[in-house]
Amino acid sequence: MMITFKEALQKVLEQTLDLGKEEVTLMKSLNRILAEDIQADRDFPPFNRATKDGIAISYSNLVNTPHKFKIEGEATAGARQQILNNKVNCLEVMTGAVVPENADTVVMYEHITLVNGEVVINENVIRGQNIHYKGSDKKQGSIVITKETKISPAEIGVMASVGSSQVMVKANPKICTIATGNELVDIDVLPEPHQIRKSNMLTIEAALATVEIQATSLHIDDDKETIRHGLKKALIENDVLLLSGGVSMGKFDFIPEVMEELGVEKVFHKVAQRPGKPFWFGIHNESKTVIFSFPGNPVSTFANYHLYFLPWLHKSWDIPIEKSYIKLSIELLITPSLTRFIQVKSTWKDGSLWATPVVENGSGDLTSLAQADGFICLEPRDEAYRVGEAVPFVITR
Ligand code: AMP
Ligand code: MG
Repeated sequence: MMITFKEALQKVLEQTLDLGKEEVTLMKSLNRILAEDIQADRDFPPFNRATKDGIAISYSNLVNTPHKFKIEGEATAGARQQILNNKVNCLEVMTGAVVPENADTVVMYEHITLVNGEVVINENVIRGQNIHYKGSDKKQGSIVITKETKISPAEIGVMASVGSSQVMVKANPKICTIATGNELVDIDVLPEPHQIRKSNMLTIEAALATVEIQATSLHIDDDKETIRHGLKKALIENDVLLLSGGVSMGKFDFIPEVMEELGVEKVFHKVAQRPGKPFWFGIHNESKTVIFSFPGNPVSTFANYHLYFLPWLHKSWDIPIEKSYIKLSIELLITPSLTRFIQVKSTWKDGSLWATPVVENGSGDLTSLAQADGFICLEPRDEAYRVGEAVPFVITR
């Protein structure tokens, strides 16, 4: 009896690793997961900041005795705080400058005129206007970004503002991607008629690059000795192995057998799902290596990477993975007792996201990957899935 997708996923998620954390430079933290709370190292803004170019005045001297203001000098951004020596005067002030001592209000240039070297104010003025007060955004020591946040350019900007030149992020697992098969050749080689280009591992490496993981890679022929030798070394050197091929029923699908010979504990082999049914999953207790051995069909490898490995990775990082749903644009009947993952194109219409299955010639049709935005996940059931019904959506781009 094959296990269900739900059971398989649960078993995978029971094998998460404690990956720990590491320190990287600020720019290297982009797209990583923050492993520390980021605090404001000073008040924000750090001083009363002028938000307009214009003049700084003492408000009570405007209301009590309306008059023309003499310009005493200027306060520029980057200069130390100036002093308005005589409160009946004004200082010219630039955006980003410290509001001068004795001044409490800024009037923008657009609201004043210069008459014989003195300033006349033409508009109504409110006390304290055009000043961004010290500490009004964040107080020193308060948290500006919480840990477990995925670092985007916005977080880079905030961390730069508080001087986080080094950032603690969740560490990544050491991963080796392993292609198996005698038929596979490198992509810069012209394949013989019976050969095909090795594409799966590049797809996986590209997917890993989007989460800032650089994997090593390996290609092993379908030969037991070669497999044993290659896997033995890979198990010692890595936290995770992502394999493709060699786990089906073929005479040369040696992966499960060799894994067990090497002391890798099989957690399960084969899941009641399509595509990706021959998925083999195991752990090497000795080296604490987790092994995802995907069937070689490109769509199967790609689907299983997103369905199992990514949730495993997020759980190992201790962060939730977002669940998405999409509406079906056609009716679908799923009768055989397999969970179905169907490649779909997604489009926005009337404020909702709609899924249209892509034309796909089975899980060996690798060109279909470029047509789809993700997989919808459909459990088998008696009644058809209706048009407009919301179903789980695993986004792959
Ligand atoms: P297997 O799971 O080894 O039986 O492979 C299933 C199909 O996927 C076969 O047609 C393989 O040639 C193909 N395949 C296996 N590995 C790769 C790979 N790395 N890149 C592209 N196709 C592959
Ligand atoms: Mg093979």
